[in-house]
Amino acid sequence: ALTIGIVGLPNVGKSTLFNALTRNQVLAANYPFATIEPNIGVVNLPDERLDRLAEVFHSERIVPATVSFVDIAGIVRGASEGEGLGNQFLANIREADAIAQVVRGFADDDVVHVEGEVNPKNDLETIGAELMLADLQTLEKAITRYEKEVKGRKIDKSVLEAAIAAKDALDRGVLLSASGVDLAPIRELGLLTAKPFIFVFNVDEAVLTDAARKAELAALVAPAQAVFLDAKIESELIDLDPEDAAELLASTGQDESGLDQLARIGFDTLGLQTYLTAGPKEARAWTIGKGWKAPAAAGVIHTDFEKGFIKAEVISFDDLVELGSVVEARAHGKSRLEGKDYVMQDGDVVEFRFNN
Ligand code: GDP
Repeated sequence: ALTIGIVGLPNVGKSTLFNALTRNQVLAANYPFATIEPNIGVVNLPDERLDRLAEVFHSERIVPATVSFVDIAGIVRGASEGEGLGNQFLANIREADAIAQVVRGFADDDVVHVEGEVNPKNDLETIGAELMLADLQTLEKAITRYEKEVKGRKIDKSVLEAAIAAKDALDRGVLLSASGVDLAPIRELGLLTAKPFIFVFNVDEAVLTDAARKAELAALVAPAQAVFLDAKIESELIDLDPEDAAELLASTGQDESGLDQLARIGFDTLGLQTYLTAGPKEARAWTIGKGWKAPAAAGVIHTDFEKGFIKAEVISFDDLVELGSVVEARAHGKSRLEGKDYVMQDGDVVEFRFNN
């Protein structure tokens, strides 16, 4: 499964947030496919459509999609030179498919800030610079190696060219994700600034309820997406029943928990979407990539569904809920039979037809 690595300076609230994520996992663990690993927090992707489908189909249970977060230890200034956590840290973060960077926005004199003051802009620059330095080092080593390999005709020169173009972009201070360089030939390097980023501002109530301040912080990281949460409140929310949790959220001006927001934005940042299936046994969301075609989507349920794919019967969620049943949807011409070139749309409710 795709994972999102959590990074940030020390004392910004990473552990507090991660604890909330892993304790939330108790819920996810009720589902058979959730594997539990100590450094992985699995959270459900919130999806109200599943509740509606479960009503329409009288489903016994609901199985949401999930998003996995990996705890990667803190980064400090100098990490790229082995001063901080160095190589092990970098190796872990390279394996993540996207990165969630926690940035401290809460004021608390009892919690020391490693850089002496709470300054989100400064912290973003510190970490951005460390990640770029780490990528530069990776590229410099790779270029030396690639030059030999091109001479020895072991690799195509397009690999070397991509590495040089990437290094040039970093030398100009441009993040690889924004560089326009085709990084496909050097994917093996796991370059950090090529990964999609989410920024998690760990703030206090004063900021949560201050739209202007949030807009300012979001602008620091745009076009990447920003999530605002209070890690301490998130860990309290988990122990509350749904009504009390909703009340606590409302009192801080939110209608959705930070963990739910993080799951939603994380899922989107990973380039994922879901389609839905429903029946008396379960209403379920299946995770696919954006732009996937019907046979590949069917393969997520079972490889036989992909191999023997004939058609997908697709009804949009809105039509299905409005008409109340598959039979009614068919009668109103709202059920479509789609072939192997159909590109799946978010919210499709699907039943696959296949040959065994
Ligand atoms: P990490 O080093 O990034 O993992 O940070 P921790 O999660 O260990 O948090 C460092 C300290 O800040 C701990 O004492 C936390 O209780 C405290 N802390 C974390 N999040 C918040 C927050 O949202 N508000 C306040 N006031 N304190 C927080």
